Amino acid sequence: MQTRNLINGEWRDAPSGATFDVTNPATDEVIAKVPDGGAGQAVAAIAAARAALPSWRALPAAERAGPLAKLASLMLAKQDELAKLLTREQGKPLAEARGEISYAASFISWAAEEAKRVYGETVPASRTDQRILVLRQAVGVVAAITPWNFPAAMITRKLGPALAAGCTIIVKPAEQTPLSAFAIGELALEAGIPAGVLNIITGDSAAIGQAIFADPTVRKVSFTGSTAVGQKLMVAAANNVVRLSLELGGHAPFLVFDDADVDAAVIGAIKSKFRNAGQTCVCPNRFFVQDGIYDEFVAKLAAALEPLRIGSGLDEGVSVGPLIDDDAVAKVRDHVDDALSHGATLRLGGKIFSPESGLTERFCQPTILEGVNASMKLNHEETFGPVAPIRRFTHEAEAIELANDSPYGLASYFYTRDNSRVWRVAEALEYGIVGANDGAPSTAQAPFGGVKMSGIGREGGRYVMHEYLNIKYVSIGID
Ligand code: ADP
Repeated sequence: MQTRNLINGEWRDAPSGATFDVTNPATDEVIAKVPDGGAGQAVAAIAAARAALPSWRALPAAERAGPLAKLASLMLAKQDELAKLLTREQGKPLAEARGEISYAASFISWAAEEAKRVYGETVPASRTDQRILVLRQAVGVVAAITPWNFPAAMITRKLGPALAAGCTIIVKPAEQTPLSAFAIGELALEAGIPAGVLNIITGDSAAIGQAIFADPTVRKVSFTGSTAVGQKLMVAAANNVVRLSLELGGHAPFLVFDDADVDAAVIGAIKSKFRNAGQTCVCPNRFFVQDGIYDEFVAKLAAALEPLRIGSGLDEGVSVGPLIDDDAVAKVRDHVDDALSHGATLRLGGKIFSPESGLTERFCQPTILEGVNASMKLNHEETFGPVAPIRRFTHEAEAIELANDSPYGLASYFYTRDNSRVWRVAEALEYGIVGANDGAPSTAQAPFGGVKMSGIGREGGRYVMHEYLNIKYVSIGID
């Protein structure tokens, strides 16, 4: 297991020798000590990325695609090992961690293919002595700042397209989950990605962030995390007018109409809400269920959630792992208590506990709250836990209004069997992603991203390449 920072193809400690602990959220066991680096290591990583840039971006696309495709296949070959490491540092059940590794690898293999399709354009001119050419070129040195909830996939969906486009990169993983990042770094070296093309640094996030935005070499920052930090990065980016991709918080609505297939809606709700113990930015935070089907949906959801096994993600058969840390526990508890004190009723769960000796008190039962209203915190703040707050609605227009009543606009979901309603509601939802009868829309070939305060830019699909390419207009005068 690699535990040091990757700078210019070398594994390095922090110059001060300082480290911080990476712990298993299920047990508090210290898994590793990793470098507590700071601005100095960021500067070194940026210098390495700058030095590696000219030869990497000059390679024919197919030669950049080669090592990327190799990296994806190495990740799949080591899927079980990587999944165990991911579960140990992040907590999610092993089956989900395995899924995340193949999902993470798919972003790299998709990008490796897209590298070969970075097409330019010729545009008809309005003068006979001019030809208009549009080129697309790598933006240069890129920094990626990533969160803990998907320690592998949030990195690969940035580094895959960045490297495919001809950029070099500095990755700053979340402090809770750097080990998956280092493991990807090791495999990248094995796959033949040259020194300096991929650098990985851990440590003081504010100091590293400042160093990244202070250096005009860095032309692009891609960030996934909270809206509050994303806003800070937007301010910092003004300094050198750095391009940004921001994938920020969400507050997804999940609508179930009277004409829905209730069983499918329950399966969709479990996939979207309870994966990763509710700790994803696309998790529904607000369920709206139409009167005629309300009782059936809630009863079936409760019945499906009740038998789910809660425990360490390393134990086969566990479906709900721990929350990431004590702050996450405090937030979930606060949201549930606040809802109950404002008149919500508990239909299922609600307890945060330790399921067996040796495990921390960070395990939250899948929870259903009914009688939710707009005054409650969980109606407007992201809970990031396995809590489903449910409200009734009567009319389609009312449901759309409730769903859109949020400053966020990342994911949204609805279930109906009426084809016209599918179109109407999908078009009316002010969200970057709509799952129409689909609780798990994310996939490497589709654009992922939000509107409103959920961010800027798209990851996945052919759209992601734009994030790492500049447009250059060449006007050619001819006789
Ligand atoms: P979360 O709430 O999911 O932990 P954060 O937005 O706090 O999300 O963190 C996401 C990533 O942003 C992490 O890698 C974290 O270290 C990093 N980060 C947090 N604050 C800053 C900052 N001021 N500058 C740069 N990166 C930061």
